[in-house]
Amino acid sequence: MAEPGSTVITKVRVFDGTSLTEPRDVALDGGLIVASAAAGATIVDGRGGTLMPGLIETHAHVDARPALDELARYGVTTVLDMGCQRPSVIADLRDTEGRPDIRTAAAPATAPGSVHVTQMGYPASSALTGARGARQFVADQRAHGAAYIKVILEDAKQPGAKPLPQETVAAVVAAAHDEGLLVVAHAVAATSYRLACDAGGDVLTHVPLAEGLTADDAARLRAGGIVVSPTLTMMDLVAASLTSDRKYRIARRLRLAPALSIDSAVAAVRLLHEAGVPILAGTDANADPHAPANPPYGVSLHDELALLVGAGLTPVEALQAATSTAAQVFGLSDRGQIAAGLRADVILVAGDPTTDIGAIRAIREVWIGGRRL
Ligand SMILES: [Zn+2]
Repeated sequence: MAEPGSTVITKVRVFDGTSLTEPRDVALDGGLIVASAAAGATIVDGRGGTLMPGLIETHAHVDARPALDELARYGVTTVLDMGCQRPSVIADLRDTEGRPDIRTAAAPATAPGSVHVTQMGYPASSALTGARGARQFVADQRAHGAAYIKVILEDAKQPGAKPLPQETVAAVVAAAHDEGLLVVAHAVAATSYRLACDAGGDVLTHVPLAEGLTADDAARLRAGGIVVSPTLTMMDLVAASLTSDRKYRIARRLRLAPALSIDSAVAAVRLLHEAGVPILAGTDANADPHAPANPPYGVSLHDELALLVGAGLTPVEALQAATSTAAQVFGLSDRGQIAAGLRADVILVAGDPTTDIGAIRAIREVWIGGRRL
């Protein structure tokens, strides 16, 4: 791994996190983007390419160093872990020079008997028996390094669901907000979206696979300043695995189960986007054998950007969802844009992803904290 030396990328188109600018030179020094290069800087010919902020993956579960290496290879320079069984693992992976920077939620709040505690290995202490436990829960996650709080809002209509009561969710939100932490709510049903709105959540992750989200719901999210990280990549894999399930196919024939496909999820994102709800790029990439599916690290974020464009975002809006918007929502004020003084988390892409989102797949160079991979 090279030191964060002085580098200048020359004659390169720049997507600065907001829009595309004319070709120019961009200098990196001491781990930051700087106004001008030092003498003797390494020259990288940027002609034909586009320089842009490194990607921010807003929903993943990271438990080992190879996951970080894979993310980095695909231009992900910051990863937001949305729930981990062992916070010490994340602590060990943090601040690793030249690897993606990690933030974590530590353990998510769930209800007693939820699959998160019975099957997925999350600590029993993360199952809340009532609103009274909310403050202790938030304090515990903060002690484990949480940069935001995650809460699981199970779909009450699912067989075997263990939904948290709204009163408990509202208490978690209040406790988190008192500590200055955002609340990210796992929500895969329209009813969970409504509960999160009522309880004052900040970011919703996932999107309903079945129809049910209405224009009124979208307007409420917009009015409440709520942001959505839909994880279409995950929803696509979940729909495929559920609809190939024998029990689901029988239930469908008997008209007991709703039609599930990526189409409903894409339509929901389209509805939210058209209503002006900010959309973030996240995939739920994970390697957990107990998870419903395992989107691969890194490459899945490129898939997600294409899916977001398929749901009506322009390529520029999709890129914002993985850079400037993500940084702004999560308070990462030192990244997400190409501007002097910010972290030198930048990627050089062949072609122009602001007109063809598929160009994001052709990554030529990645710098993390000014270190060239
Ligand atoms: Zn997840």
